[in-house]
Amino acid sequence: MAIDLHTHSSVSDGTDTPRELMFQAARSGLSVVALTDHDTTAGWQEAAEAVAPSGVALVRGTEISVESDGISVHLLSYLHDPGHEELAREFARTREFRGSRAKTIVERINADYPLRWSDVEAQASPEATIGRPHIADALVESGYVRDRTEAFAEILSPTGPYYVRYQTPALAHTVELVRAAGGVPVLAHVRAKARGRVISDDAIAALVEHGLVGIEVDHRDHTAGDRAHLRRLAQDLGLLITGSSDYHGRGKPNLLAENTTDPRVLAQIEERAHLDVIRP
Ligand code: AMP
Ligand code: FE
Ligand code: FE
Ligand code: ZN
Repeated sequence: MAIDLHTHSSVSDGTDTPRELMFQAARSGLSVVALTDHDTTAGWQEAAEAVAPSGVALVRGTEISVESDGISVHLLSYLHDPGHEELAREFARTREFRGSRAKTIVERINADYPLRWSDVEAQASPEATIGRPHIADALVESGYVRDRTEAFAEILSPTGPYYVRYQTPALAHTVELVRAAGGVPVLAHVRAKARGRVISDDAIAALVEHGLVGIEVDHRDHTAGDRAHLRRLAQDLGLLITGSSDYHGRGKPNLLAENTTDPRVLAQIEERAHLDVIRP
């Protein structure tokens, strides 16, 4: 029973539609997949409808953009109530900030490369959570870079001249909010240094009393040393350990099922959650 708890569809910055993602999951030999688009639940319905035809069980989730002491962090939430007003408002606010931030990045890029906002919009589905990956795709389309990887290494680099941050809610508060919405909060790729500065072990430990449930340990952006370290930390803190691909379709090299989660861990996530896993 292979379980992958972190993937993206075209509802954020992945390239498969939610339905296509479910069938890709079947082809990759997964029996359970979590759809965790950035700051949205908009893909849940379509993915749920594909559970029976694909034969793959669905964990409905969201990857939430947050910050801790000025450090950008991603928090996975599983099986929360999508109708929880405060959480839904938080997602909507972040999507708005992301949209205006992306426009500012395009304006800055325009100092050196002609690129229209409509070129970026053309790379995203209408309801998608906009991000740098869509700008990357527009830069590829315009022939300025070869692929997303090159776009992120050069034009979209956080240390480059065009980068703009966006406002995100505080990590500890969001952990509490996810719990209030019946969700199960798990820190995503928390030692992925390519994303920039990472939070300390003490900062992770402090989240336990706010309701943190788990840490994503097995992720391709973690070295063997990161994984060993996080596994020990999670054990010390009594936190669940997950593994996942962070699949983005053609947008990233990450392959479905390249890292997986123990079925007993999924059972514990489901036990704590408001929603059930949807099974075929
Ligand atoms: P943003 O949230 O708009 O700042 O963009 C970050 C997103 O870009 C993350 O969700 C990653 O999935 C994606 N990303 C980051 N680095 C790369 C890369 N080198 N190649 C492709 N996608 C990337
Ligand atoms: Fe992403
Ligand atoms: Fe992430
Ligand atoms: Zn992700």
